[in-house]
Amino acid sequence: MAKHATPKLDQLESGPWPSFVSDIKQEAANRAANPKKIDYQVPADCPDDLLGVLELSFTDGESHWKHGGIVGVFGYGGGVIGRYCDQPTRFAGVAHFHTVRVNQPAAKYYKTDFLRQLCDLWELRGSGLTNMHGSTGDIVLLGTQTPQLEELFFELTHKMNTDLGGSGSNLRSPEACLGLSRCEYACYDSQDVCYQLTRDYQDELHRPAFPYKFKFKFDACPNGCVASIARSDFSLIGTWKDDIKIDQSAVKAYVGGEFVPNAGAHSGRDWGKFDVQAEVVDLCPTKCMKWDGAKISINNKECTRCMHCINTMPRALRIGDERGASILVGAKAPILDGAQMGSLLVPFVEVTPPYDEIKEIIEKIWDWWMEDGKNRERLGETIRRLSFQRLLEVTGIKAQAAHVKEPRHNPYIFFKEEEVLGGWDRDLAAYRSRHQR
Ligand code: SF4
Repeated sequence: MAKHATPKLDQLESGPWPSFVSDIKQEAANRAANPKKIDYQVPADCPDDLLGVLELSFTDGESHWKHGGIVGVFGYGGGVIGRYCDQPTRFAGVAHFHTVRVNQPAAKYYKTDFLRQLCDLWELRGSGLTNMHGSTGDIVLLGTQTPQLEELFFELTHKMNTDLGGSGSNLRSPEACLGLSRCEYACYDSQDVCYQLTRDYQDELHRPAFPYKFKFKFDACPNGCVASIARSDFSLIGTWKDDIKIDQSAVKAYVGGEFVPNAGAHSGRDWGKFDVQAEVVDLCPTKCMKWDGAKISINNKECTRCMHCINTMPRALRIGDERGASILVGAKAPILDGAQMGSLLVPFVEVTPPYDEIKEIIEKIWDWWMEDGKNRERLGETIRRLSFQRLLEVTGIKAQAAHVKEPRHNPYIFFKEEEVLGGWDRDLAAYRSRHQR
């Protein structure tokens, strides 16, 4: 029998998707059925009270969580987000309901015994409710009380060999796609970079010293499975320099219906007879492909590595051999100033351990942003306020055509007078010499 009536929340269970309300009810029912299963260290009825306070919020049209509150573990400035309820007497089970962020392993590979240990620990010292995973990638443990934090932290770090993630104005838990471990398109070892940089930047991860949050995400190919281009201040996206490899006999096999396009994905769709012209060539965003009825050809200089053709005919087209990554900076979700996608900073960088070239760029960006960034200003906003050109200056990267955001409309980079005049003089002299007869 539920402790609180929740008619409004019940409606959220009626749609076609799994509902978090059902999950909370399930945990509440488990605990109610077996209140002495373990020696619960926080009130066993906290999932019930969570439903109650949420229902009240819907009724009142306002949140009943008080904002913030500094809680954490000794030596760390992040990893725990304080939550206090403004109705502690009515909902004692969630009087404190702190969230704990745990750094997920690279690409989120787990052993089942780790997950069991984690769930056992969280059942004992928290609400039993988890979010696998938060939008930054962390394992999110939802709801515990202040006295449990040090105990929980000790067990996570000493017994489970894992660590808290980032929160506040610091480096957030870096995130990677599954990369070389399973993906044939991976252009670099995204898991290794993620792991290495997580270790190298422990201080930045646990001790907030930045103007605001900073996210690394590592996509090993342009398919972007962790959406780094849209969701990270520093995004490393795998790419290649040489040509897409074409197996013409496999192209014919797709055209002849021997191979299923898109590796059989979108199975609900009836592709009919595969039309390589309509499905691949005409959809190439740069129109750099041709199909002459027998062979496909690609003008690789114009290819933007969008992956469409390779995804559609993976057995016929393959990524090149000279692999590395592009660095993009400044993406963010719409918090203060609207969403922003990342801007290309370095078109190609080799990604080899110990990743010094990449770290050098990261550290130059941080030095600048920590000096000139305003409080609660994401890197992308600092770039917009102080110009992309300033970013190029502080990173020592030369302006190039690939940095132009909107050609012939809105110059994204600006040249200083002294940089341009020399060039103009040269161009003028060359023009005159060409036209002198
Ligand atoms: Fe065209 Fe994209 Fe294929 Fe490049 S990867 S050839 S841009 S469809």
